[in-house]
Amino acid sequence: MSTLRSQLARRIGLPLKALAKRESTGRIVDDLDKGQWLAPEQLRALREKRLRRLLVEVGRDVPFYREQIRRLGADPQGDDPFEILRGLPTINKKMYRELGVALRSESPRRRPIVAHTSGTTGERLEVRVDPDAAAYRYLAGFRGRSWWGIEPGDSEYKIWGSGIRTATGAAELAYKVVRRMKDWAIGITLVSPFFQKREDVDEAARLLMRKKPKLVFGYANSIHLLAAHMVRNGLRAGPGWPKAVGYTAEMLMDWQREDIARAFGAPLFAEYGSCEAGVMAFQCPQGSMHTSDDIMILETLPTPGCADGLGGVVVTDLMATTYPLIRYQQGDLARLGSETCTCGRGLGRLFDLTGRMNERFASRSGGIIDFIVFDQAMKEQDAIRCFKVVERGPGDIVFLAELHAGREWNLADRERFVKQCLSLLPADVALSVQVADHLPSEPSGKFRIMIAASDAARYL
Ligand SMILES: [Zn+2]
Repeated sequence: MSTLRSQLARRIGLPLKALAKRESTGRIVDDLDKGQWLAPEQLRALREKRLRRLLVEVGRDVPFYREQIRRLGADPQGDDPFEILRGLPTINKKMYRELGVALRSESPRRRPIVAHTSGTTGERLEVRVDPDAAAYRYLAGFRGRSWWGIEPGDSEYKIWGSGIRTATGAAELAYKVVRRMKDWAIGITLVSPFFQKREDVDEAARLLMRKKPKLVFGYANSIHLLAAHMVRNGLRAGPGWPKAVGYTAEMLMDWQREDIARAFGAPLFAEYGSCEAGVMAFQCPQGSMHTSDDIMILETLPTPGCADGLGGVVVTDLMATTYPLIRYQQGDLARLGSETCTCGRGLGRLFDLTGRMNERFASRSGGIIDFIVFDQAMKEQDAIRCFKVVERGPGDIVFLAELHAGREWNLADRERFVKQCLSLLPADVALSVQVADHLPSEPSGKFRIMIAASDAARYL
């Protein structure tokens, strides 16, 4: 690492001291380090203590929870906090949005970190995150990476939606470029996941071979496209890099894993997280997806059509007291277990995660039509509440939008949206947009974005 880069890394790359002024970064790191090795009864005691603190604070300062706890007739100081938690309502995206300020502390100590997601369910949402909770989440990601020998400051090649190509207006573009410089300062090479044509993958592979990153991380499908390209062209990473390849927990088929192993010659790990909740589970070298039990509580709710403990994932962030996230429905299905893992960590385990959106369509020429294209363009469209991408035929796509009540999707915004999407989609894709009164969930209860031609008749 160059001197300049290490200086920058200290100055702007790791702004965690700013994130967590009251609790030093070092303390949080120690805390997380200890948390993973706690014995079951110690872990339970820690969770109880943290949950009680959360309930006491939200019961005092957050209007929605003050009312809910009063309705339960519960006393967060004295009663079993786990039981109180079970009595609180689950919150979905729609409620989170509609409750707005009622979900925020009336006496916030600091300003929140604000993020936008349309995420994997196609509904746009502004999420406010407690700075303390954000620091815990961020560093929980580092904890997981450390299981694979990745150290802070190790160079990373990240295939992720940067948004630069969809930025509008000089100010927004400038902001995104600054963010990208920050990524550079902490050793992240950001690569667009929009591989529209062969040359894009070629360029990505060349960059990888030049950068020799310690960690390759990104969307499972994009990593696989890159790996398959490398295998076809006789390219192979290493020796000595990367230490590991990480992907966001989507489905990867065995043949895809084989391509990745051949191209990178490094272990492959999965991370399960979301914009709203951060890292919820991380895979250990023994293969378990360990849940971040010391800083959050995951539950699965009984879901129609699901058996054997499979249910909708609901998350409570134990560290977020000012902008709480309590019993938030992630919209994914999984099973939870507490069977111990041979790695010795006391953290629980997540199994059979399904429901992540990794569906894609192909254009006539074989180009990729990926939901993340629409996800990116959506971030600048305030009027849209949720959307579906319907395949009318090969390369013939209809974007169906449901709008917020009383809002209109004006012509200029529509045209900008279509232009942005087309700039990221293969050249032979035809895209039209329609506004729908109401977009229903699937029979499974999961709101799916990508609707293949075989189901298109239900929507068009
Ligand atoms: Zn383990």
